[in-house]
Amino acid sequence: MVVVLLAIGALGGGTTKVTTVQQAAATTRAVADTTSTADDAESLYAETSPGVVEIKSTDPMQAPAMRPNYLTAEKDRICAVESIKYARRLASTAALKPYLLSEYKPGEGVRTDSEILEFAREYGATIFHPTGTCKMGSDPMAVTDSRLRVHGIGGLRVVDCSIMPTLVSGNTHAPAVMIAEKASDMILEDARGQSIAA
Ligand SMILES: Cc1cc2nc3c(=O)[nH]c(=O)nc-3n(C[C@H](O)[C@H](O)[C@H](O)COP(=O)(O)OP(=O)(O)OC[C@H]3O[C@@H](n4cnc5c(N)ncnc54)[C@H](O)[C@@H]3O)c2cc1C
Repeated sequence: MVVVLLAIGALGGGTTKVTTVQQAAATTRAVADTTSTADDAESLYAETSPGVVEIKSTDPMQAPAMRPNYLTAEKDRICAVESIKYARRLASTAALKPYLLSEYKPGEGVRTDSEILEFAREYGATIFHPTGTCKMGSDPMAVTDSRLRVHGIGGLRVVDCSIMPTLVSGNTHAPAVMIAEKASDMILEDARGQSIAA
């Protein structure tokens, strides 16, 4: 889902008012300004730029290094640019145009694709949905199988958002709960299967 922030001068009142335009698609980061919240934002929900989480120390209490690498994938850069252009097209429709005085952000001065991309880089921000650091699957990058068992290690499962092969198109809390519910069923099923086999 792309949520693009359009701030508009309210007709008549003269005060600045903020509205949002939502589009089913995808992005990376939130367009932030002093009036925005995570919901008043541009966000890539089907982001493809791979981030990195690396252990920095043998001390388990040391925090890892996390590098999200936003907008490194071309698909994400295209999406960030096209989503802003889409919001502009939407804002210029007959239905919305009468209510707009001027574009607040990115602003009239930001026109070319590279200028729009620079705006996305400058004002983008996370909305806190990093996932997929040890994805479920069977390809060489997969860490767990489809029953969340870590490949090559017996008696170990991963049960949280890190097993998502791709980011869900929405919030991540409910899917985390669903993954846990499903995992508890699978753990019980496997335990029953083992006791029957034994
Ligand atoms: C600021 C913020 C706002 C958010 N807002 C929303 C929202 O509005 N709606 C929504 O759906 N999602 C939201 N999210 C995302 C959502 O909170 C997460 O996607 C979700 O909590 C992920 O669940 P998880 O179980 O995968 O990981 P976590 O919730 O991070 O759980 C991991 C747990 O493992 C523990 N842990 C870590 N290391 C160890 C260790 N070595 N030993 C033992 N325990 C350890 C941690 O203490 C933690 O309790 C938000 C996230 C943030 C940060």
